[in-house]
Order: sequence, then structure tokens, then C-alpha cells
Amino acid sequence: MITMNHVQQQILEAFAASGQNFECENLVTEGGHELSLLFFRHASLGIVWDGTVIYADPLMEYADYARLPKADLVLVTHEHYDHFDEKAIRVLLKPDTVIVGSREVSHLMSGVTPLSPGDGLRVSASVAVRAVAAYNTTPSHLQFHPKKRGDNGYVLTLDGTTIYIAGDTEVIPEMASLGKIDFAFLPVNQPYTMTPEQAAEATRIIRPEILYPYHTTDTDLSSFSAMLDDVPVSVRIYPME
Ligand code: ZN
Ligand code: ZN
Repeated sequence: MITMNHVQQQILEAFAASGQNFECENLVTEGGHELSLLFFRHASLGIVWDGTVIYADPLMEYADYARLPKADLVLVTHEHYDHFDEKAIRVLLKPDTVIVGSREVSHLMSGVTPLSPGDGLRVSASVAVRAVAAYNTTPSHLQFHPKKRGDNGYVLTLDGTTIYIAGDTEVIPEMASLGKIDFAFLPVNQPYTMTPEQAAEATRIIRPEILYPYHTTDTDLSSFSAMLDDVPVSVRIYPME
């Protein structure tokens, strides 16, 4: 009999066998199951948990997804070219893949389950996803991600452990009511998302155990961790430019 740990191991071996040397971090969820985070680039992430394969904002430019394990769940935050690539999603599909996207994304690709900020979807007995708002607040930046378009961030719950994938957003009031967040991905680039100072402010609001800056483009993060010296958070920086 194959245990879930073996399935998890096989999936991670398949990632390694693809010959694409992605950074990977291994964690454990509250229920004691293995969780691996794969850092492709920019906003493209892989999450492998207890044999479940999840991709966020996959882009062909950042990985050869045709050679990676098929998806159980794909999350698309919004339709911008650095987040939505139908071709990358298509090669990840198997018959029961669930694709979740913003309303706009669901208009661009068939088979996408649209979630508006505030909506939730239970994917399986121990996997749930909730869409949360993502938008700009700086007056001269509102056109990038207008609140009314309904772009998404996502809170993914895996066996009680929560992962916040913020999407393209600045600091917004909705961050105060996310609930317990264990691991958070916050975007840090200008002019589209947050400055390092804003990301530090968001971290103080969200209070994750681990913070991963992502969507960093050419942002200098060399002094970012020091901004959070007084906050009990582990800041982990991967090449997510
Ligand atoms: Zn965007
Ligand atoms: Zn973006």
C-alpha cells in the first residue's frame, strides 16, 4: 500500500526529474502533513501538500509546466499577463483539475470557477480556498488594479494551515480580517504593488509566521528584514523577481 508520504515523495521527485532547478522549501502543516513550496518566479508558485498539487499564477515563461506534475488546483489571481497564461494552465490539466480565477479570468478561459472577493470554495475534505480583495490604493496607481474589477488574492486552507497569496495589491483594510495566516506571500514592486515599507506594514497587520516577499521585479530587499526586527515573523527571500 502506498502511503500519502510516498505520493508526496513521488510528486517531488517528478519536479526534480523535470530538470528545472526550482527553489523548494519543505514545511509541515498543523495536521502533520508535508507541505512543499516551489518558487518558480515572480507570482508563479507551486504548493504540494499531502499528495495534492496546487499552482498559483502559472506562466510558461517561468517554467516548462508540460514537464511538471498535473494540477489538482490552479489559482489565478487576475488576468494580467504576468499572472494569467492559458497555455500554462492547459498543460497542467487532468480530468478533475479545479481552476479558480477572478471573474475577469473566467470570461477569458472556459472551465474557470469564478470567485469574487469574499467567496469561498471547498475543494476537498481538507482543502479550501477563499478569495480576498486585491487592489491599489495609491491615488496615481488606481488604474493598475481597480477595486471594482474584482481581482483576487487567495487564502488557501490546508488541513488547518493557512497560506495567503496576496495577488497584486497594496495595503487594504481587508487584510485586518483575514484571520490566522501562517504563511504569507506579499507582492513588492513599484508602481504596481507595494513598496517594502508597505509590505512591512501589511506584515504587521497580517502577522504571519513566515513571510515570503514575491512579485519583486527589481525591488531592493536587502534591508527589508530589518524593517520587521520587532515583529515575530520569519522573512524568507527567494528569487521571485
Ligand atoms: Zn496585476
Ligand atoms: Zn503582477
